[in-house]
Amino acid sequence: MHRESDVDPAIEQPEVDLGGQMRPHGTELSVMLAIGGLSTLAIAGYAIYRFVSGDWVNGAINSVIFSAIAITLLLTRNERWQVTAMLLFGIVITLSCMASSLLIGSNGLLWAYLVFWINTFLLLHPAALALNATAILVLGSQSRLFATTLEQVSWITVAIMITAFGIYYASLMRRQRRLLRRLATHDPLTGIGNRRLMQHRLEQVVAQARTDQRHCTLVVLDLDHFKQINDAHGHEAGDQTLCRFARQLEDSMREGDELYRMGGEEFVMLLRDMSLDAARKAVPRLHERLSGCVQGPDGPIHFSAGAATHREGESWSRWLARADQALYEAKRSGRNSLIVAE
Ligand code: GH3
Ligand code: MG
Ligand code: MG
Repeated sequence: MHRESDVDPAIEQPEVDLGGQMRPHGTELSVMLAIGGLSTLAIAGYAIYRFVSGDWVNGAINSVIFSAIAITLLLTRNERWQVTAMLLFGIVITLSCMASSLLIGSNGLLWAYLVFWINTFLLLHPAALALNATAILVLGSQSRLFATTLEQVSWITVAIMITAFGIYYASLMRRQRRLLRRLATHDPLTGIGNRRLMQHRLEQVVAQARTDQRHCTLVVLDLDHFKQINDAHGHEAGDQTLCRFARQLEDSMREGDELYRMGGEEFVMLLRDMSLDAARKAVPRLHERLSGCVQGPDGPIHFSAGAATHREGESWSRWLARADQALYEAKRSGRNSLIVAE
């Protein structure tokens, strides 16, 4: 909770960067853009060389390949198309390496190793398996591409091993990234979203409000005299009370509303589709229903709260500061009360 003199809405807090590696598919997209960009340049170079040396057919095949790769890279610019773009990228590079092995020459077999690894890294396992297995079957069965049977068997063996280890590595990496994302965005004590996730979501809500005109209300809650529980019964009793309180808040919220632990014994509720008029009626009812319904070691736990409905053009930090200021006023008015910011 800010004190009155702290609240300077002109001071913007830094944007939270949960993007990049923390975004779903962030790592896959970075790899796809890096490898796709390099391959486009390399294959464009081959195409130019072939056109210059009069090899029109293979020059045309290379041109089709680098154009198709470039199109899938451009598709990733639209967030809704990113997963499809990755699948198309996998299909394009697999077909391209098969076509160049079959039509141009057996050096496409070396490119296939890179393609197999990229597929396991970028795509869902069934898609990666399907593409790699098709390429291994088609290319591995072409004896004319290999100098000896031993070379053919070796190529097939290494291709299968790259696919198997690629899938194993991708599963480990995805599991670790999920864990990392969870650790970075959730409070370890109560399991609800932490301040970082809250800030990220508020930024999204404020950005959406520019187009969809839907109103959301923030409620900042702070337990009353919580320190007394710690002082009288120890930190563990305080922790248990915080967990019970968080569970109770979660259970009482509507579908689509969100709850975060801002820090200490302060929580933030994000109530979707709630205009100022609706908030004036609903939020006091919420306070009445919840304050005192969780039992602490010395009796019912009460809390004070401040609510603010998002105003057009308002930044997330100003919005939160208004709710926080309302909470401060609720505390000043004697606690166990709620104030809706006008
Ligand atoms: P007020 O009514 O003014 O809010 O009084 P208060 O005692 O609740 O407020 P104050 O900010 O003075 O104290 C908050 C206390 O919350 C201080 C700190 O010991 C406790 N606290 C913060 N985080 C945790 C936590 O994770 N676990 C436990 N057990 N206590 C915590
Ligand atoms: Mg408190
Ligand atoms: Mg506090």
